[in-house]
Amino acid sequence: MKVIKFGGSSIGTVERFNKVIKIVSKKQEKEKVIVVLSAIGGITDRLINAVDLARAGKKEYRDVFEEIGLVHYMFLDKLVSKWKQAHARLVISTILSQLDEKLRGVFLLKECSPRTSDSIISTGEYLSKSILAAALNSGGITAESLDAADFIKTDSNFGEAEVDFNTTNELIKTKFEGIKQGVIPVVNGFAGSNSAGEITTLGRSGSDYTATIIAGALNADAVEIWTDVDGVLSADPKIVPEASTLSELSYEEASELAYLGAKVIFPKAMAPVENAGIPIIVLNTFQPEHPGTFIGKTFDDGGGGVKAVTYLQELSLVCLNEISAEYNLIVISRLFALLARLELPVILLNQSASNQSICFVTLSKQISVLLNEIKKEFKLELETGRAGRITFRNDVTVVSAVGKRFDSHSALLRLVFETLDNNGIKSLMFLNSSTHKNVSFVIERPDAKRTVAALHGAFFQNYAPVNEEHIKEEKEGI
Ligand code: ADP
Ligand code: ASP
Ligand code: MG
Repeated sequence: MKVIKFGGSSIGTVERFNKVIKIVSKKQEKEKVIVVLSAIGGITDRLINAVDLARAGKKEYRDVFEEIGLVHYMFLDKLVSKWKQAHARLVISTILSQLDEKLRGVFLLKECSPRTSDSIISTGEYLSKSILAAALNSGGITAESLDAADFIKTDSNFGEAEVDFNTTNELIKTKFEGIKQGVIPVVNGFAGSNSAGEITTLGRSGSDYTATIIAGALNADAVEIWTDVDGVLSADPKIVPEASTLSELSYEEASELAYLGAKVIFPKAMAPVENAGIPIIVLNTFQPEHPGTFIGKTFDDGGGGVKAVTYLQELSLVCLNEISAEYNLIVISRLFALLARLELPVILLNQSASNQSICFVTLSKQISVLLNEIKKEFKLELETGRAGRITFRNDVTVVSAVGKRFDSHSALLRLVFETLDNNGIKSLMFLNSSTHKNVSFVIERPDAKRTVAALHGAFFQNYAPVNEEHIKEEKEGI
């Protein structure tokens, strides 16, 4: 049995959606499949936009709401034969009227709790899966629309909920055992629910995770992530069109790439399937014959080098300067506690011993809250001169060269610096990770795209990854 997930980019237009229907129809003839579906491309962004407008008291949120409705009715019309639309039409209109009420509430109150926000932004998947189920049924394939919130149980960290795997795995097993032979389950990605039954979301792009959670619980043969590119590539093809597909990645490599910005797969998606060794195959909906990327247990040839260049945006660089030597450790421990309280991740960290400063990169989304909290936390130190200035820079990008065994590749590090230098790119902070799996540096956002392109060119046109073990073996005459 396979879990097959289609992203929003695969169903962004009627023509594209049709391709997905064809792939599902063909696959189910050969094997048992469970389908996980994202919202139609752009719909989650529009839902977020509608929330923002409503919260700001702007009645234009209604235009966005109307557009969302029109898109789905139009897809339904084009993809499902007229006489088989009735049920899906009813489902869609019910979902839309609930959405309408929630948005009106936000508009009237001019506020939106994280709980309400999740129940609104998860709507796109409920709409898209009802169209897919109807389209499959109208084509003679029995499909049943299932609600992920019934079996993916999470904590109440709305927006980025953590899955309770013990409960979830049991619920998934029970739910899917009950599905009749020959029926194709169609599940909405992205959503879960907390113990009170309130809708939560797993994080942006979280439908990949929905698929691997289900696959892990049911010990599936494989998970297929169908998207709009030929797999995981050596860089984002939107920036580097000549980027090439990585045919094979270990779970660890895929996670590293995803955490450092390769948007094609959700960072946590590897976790539920890694222990059982269930492979994830990333495939292109528009080139179904392309073999894509295999993520799984791979053979390690002992070689090293760069696999891909990635970038992360919407980040801020924050520095606490001139910390008195004797307070340094205390300041660091309190700073970490503060970041943990605010649930802000530290993406890169750099501490200078000489002038006792500590700099870190974190998400920009709460930067003003963070700066205020730092000022409050270190009020005494700042007033008494035990700590000096706080500086910050918004809108920075972290670019990373990701691969393995960078410790034995001084040529690679030299190439990074040469490339930055030759292109006049200033690095604000540099980190050669202790795991030797990435080198990352912080640059200003306007430099992001040309940095990625220049580095990719330098690595993949001028630099051939060296297999150190093989060189050693050759030298030793083995
Ligand atoms: P989906 O809608 O299928 O979930 P996403 O937009 O989440 O698709 O992910 C696919 C996109 O990820 C691609 O269109 C590509 O622009 C982007 N991307 C970024 N980095 C990479 C990479 N290293 N390899 C492949 N795609 C990447
Ligand atoms: N629709 C959600 C998003 O845009 C989840 C996903 O596509 O995976 O983030
Ligand atoms: Mg995605």
